[in-house]
This record gives sequence, structure tokens and C-alpha cells, in this order.
Amino acid sequence: MIERTLFHRDHEMFRESVRSFAEKEVAPHVLRWDEAGGVDHGVWRQCGELGFLCPTVPGEYGGAEVDRLFSMIVLEELAPYGGLGISLAMHSDIVAPYLLAFGSSEVKRRYLPRMVTGELIGALAMSEPCTGSDVKAVKTVAVKVSDGYVINGSKIFISNGFESGVVVLVAKTDPRAGAKGVSLFAIDATMPGFTKGRKLKKVGMRAQDTAELFFNDVHVPASHLLGEENKGFGYLMHELPWERMQIAIAAVASAEVALNLTITYTRERQAFGKAVIDFQNTRFKLAELRSELQIARVFVDRCMELELKKTLDPATAAMAKYWCTDLQCKVVDECVQLHGGYGFMQEYAVARAWTDARAQRIYGGTNEIMKDIISRTL
Ligand SMILES: Cc1cc2nc3c(=O)[nH]c(=O)nc-3n(C[C@H](O)[C@H](O)[C@H](O)COP(=O)(O)OP(=O)(O)OC[C@H]3O[C@@H](n4cnc5c(N)ncnc54)[C@H](O)[C@@H]3O)c2cc1C
Repeated sequence: MIERTLFHRDHEMFRESVRSFAEKEVAPHVLRWDEAGGVDHGVWRQCGELGFLCPTVPGEYGGAEVDRLFSMIVLEELAPYGGLGISLAMHSDIVAPYLLAFGSSEVKRRYLPRMVTGELIGALAMSEPCTGSDVKAVKTVAVKVSDGYVINGSKIFISNGFESGVVVLVAKTDPRAGAKGVSLFAIDATMPGFTKGRKLKKVGMRAQDTAELFFNDVHVPASHLLGEENKGFGYLMHELPWERMQIAIAAVASAEVALNLTITYTRERQAFGKAVIDFQNTRFKLAELRSELQIARVFVDRCMELELKKTLDPATAAMAKYWCTDLQCKVVDECVQLHGGYGFMQEYAVARAWTDARAQRIYGGTNEIMKDIISRTL
């Protein structure tokens, strides 16, 4: 296997601590959390205490102010266990950076320290019942009043939505101006008029909190506008390569875990008097999957090098997101097949890996949208 060269000693020590947490505090509970439709309440606080939340946030807000490889490690170690990795990434590496880059000093002081500790959970609300891919078509409106804005509308499929304490909301401040009429707001879950619907029942990532949010005459102070009015679309584009990399990272890590489980399983499972791995079909299939994941790993690591230097372009990040999530779905599907009937049973991790994988091709911009982005550079 090709040695990874991205990480230093500090990163490896951090990885050990995340891995140990995953093995002791996450893996034994995944099935129960899936059935309960959510993780235990204490998990976010535990992650905060261990320094797994918002690792890149500056020290003045309580963060460790380390590089994005630490976020990558949290994702690689936790994404294979259901939606927890993706939930943490949404909180730490999507919502917190918006607040940090575009929030007023009041917003940053109020929310970031509590996001670092896990006291407060962050969500990003773009998608609406009538529009997901076409973000500029959102219908949620923010009307300017003397001391701020009044917001009306609704959002759907919002990760961390049900448990959220702060939501970065996408709304129209100039409904006739398309992308040039979009603004971002920091919405506090305690603001009157903001309500949460039920947790949505998903076919995979069942423990991950995905909810509908409703805004009925929510009065938002002017200090909760993120950045400038009508500049929100540009802000959303700002961190897209990194956001898409997070999904690609989770895809490769999750598929690698599923493949390793399958290698172990096929060594132990007997058919026709021999181990399943001794059939040439099995070995060739596993060899193909190992090869493709190695290729994906090298590409993702190289993209991360570029991301650390801030030179990763949107089209390359889109390639990573689309290709790695397609590969993840292919790998976990083959892994289910090699498990036979057991692969279809919920208590088998490979079955959960299969159902969990499917959403990866949809959120963060569908893979069709990724190809559209790539095709614009041809
Ligand atoms: C588990 C989960 C978590 C999510 N978390 C969040 C979240 O935290 N915040 C949030 O805002 N949203 C979230 N989403 C929503 C997600 O981002 C959207 O579902 C996604 O962007 C697609 O939008 P849509 O569902 O409206 O599909 P549509 O936009 O209606 O697309 C339907 C189909 O048309 C295709 N299509 C659309 N436009 C084009 C085009 N231009 N060219 C080619 N094909 C096209 C799409 O690829 C898709 O196949 C989440 C979704 C899921 C499933």
C-alpha cells in the first residue's frame, strides 16, 4: 500500500485518541442509536471535551486552532460509524467556519465557544421543500425592519436540525435578484417563531438528526446577518471545495472499513468446504475494490494537500466528491454481496454501511451537480 505522507506525529496521536473513542464509545452503541433515531445526548459533550469539535477555531473562542488535517482525522475515524462523522463535520467544519468568517463579533463570542464544547450544535439550512440543488431559488425571505430582519419560510433535510442551537440560514433579502439577493443569518434556536419539525425517518444514517425547520415571523437582530446583505451566495461558494472534500474523505474511510470487514468475513465464512475468500471470484473482487480505494485515497490526500495550501479548485473538489461517493456505493454494495444473506441484516455493520452510503451521492450538491461543475471547465 502507498504510505500516506500528509500527517505528522501530532496528527497520529490525535488519530489514536479519536480511534479509541470510536471503538469504545461509538461502535458499541451504533445499532441502538440507529434504532432510537439519534445518538446519546452526552456524545457531543464528550467530543467537545476530547477536542474533536471545531478543532480549527481560534484559541480566543476556545478552539485548538489546528490545521484541517485534524478535522480530516475526526471524519476518517468516525464516518464509518453511521452519520456521526458527517454530523460533527457539519457542525465543526461548515457551520463554525461561516460564523467565524462572516459573523459579527457578538455572534462569534456568543456561539463559537459553546460549539467548541458541544453545548450548542450547529446546522446549515439551505434546502427547502421546493428547491435543493438550485440554492438561489430559495423562497425563505428576510424582510428588513428598523432593527433587523423578519424571516418567514421553511427548510427541509437539515442535518443536526432537530438538536440545533444555532442555524446558519439561507434566505432571500431581495427575492427578485436571484443569486444576488441571497443573505445568510445566524438564527438562535430560542428566537420566537423558530420551530423544529419531527426528525425525518431516513433509510440510512438513521441515528443522524435530519429535520424540517420552520420560520414564522422570526425577528432577527441586524447583528445576526452574516457578512453583508445580498452577498450570501458568494459566501456559500467560498468554502465549497473544503465542504465537498469532507464528503469525499468520509466516503473513502467508510468504504475502507467495509472492505476490511469483508476481507475478515470471507476468510471466516465457509462454502463448498473452503473459505469464501478462496474462491477466485472473491479474491479478484476484493483486489479490484482494494485497488480502486487505493487510487481514491491517493487522490483525496493530494486534494487535501492542495486544500491546506488553499489552492484546491472547485472542479477538482467536485471530482473528489462525485467519484469517491460513487466508489463508496459500489464498494459497499460488493461487500454486501460477499456477505451473502448476512449482508442484508441490520445488525451487520456492512448492511448499515450500504444504507448509510447512499445519501453521500445526494447531499453536499448531488453528483449530477458535481459533474455540471466539472463540465464547465472543459
Ligand atoms: C441525509 C441528508 C442530509 C442533508 N443535510 C442537509 C443540510 O444539512 N442542509 C441542507 O441545506 N440540505 C441538506 N440536505 C439536502 C440536500 O443537500 C439536497 O437533497 C440536495 O442538494 C438535492 O436537492 P433536492 O433534494 O431538492 O433534489 P433536486 O434538486 O430536486 O434534484 C432532483 C434530481 O435532479 C437532479 N438535478 C437537479 N438539478 C440538476 C442539474 N442542473 N443538472 C442535472 N441534474 C440536476 C439532481 O441531481 C437529482 O438527481 C440533506 C439531504 C440528505 C438526504
